[in-house]
Amino acid sequence: MAEPRLVYSSKINKIRSFALILIFAGILIMYGGILFKDTEWLMLIFFALGVLSIGFSLVVYVWIGTLSLRAVPVECPNCGKPTKMLGRVDACMHCKQPLTLDKNLEGKEFDEKYNSRRRKSKET
Ligand SMILES: [Zn+2]
Repeated sequence: MAEPRLVYSSKINKIRSFALILIFAGILIMYGGILFKDTEWLMLIFFALGVLSIGFSLVVYVWIGTLSLRAVPVECPNCGKPTKMLGRVDACMHCKQPLTLDKNLEGKEFDEKYNSRRRKSKET
């Protein structure tokens, strides 16, 4: 198999790492606030931003939860592990194998565009 130029990661994994980054960013921002402890208002702004960032990541985690419920569970043909798909094309969570639910797209080059609404309406 040809080496793919881009590694596609599963959408759920992408969102999950985004939420994780937000938590770390929030902690870093709050930690940065300590550097400004002599300037109280600046420290408070940093802390507020940090709390906001962590709060937002929790919202994203809840969002992943609802997305996971809607995702279609499939068994990856490449590694045989169960994975979840979002949209018509997605990648396996374990081996990054591009997967599709649409028979028409089978064998075609993996493209996130297949998920866009614009394309769907063009087809109908
Ligand atoms: Zn797989």
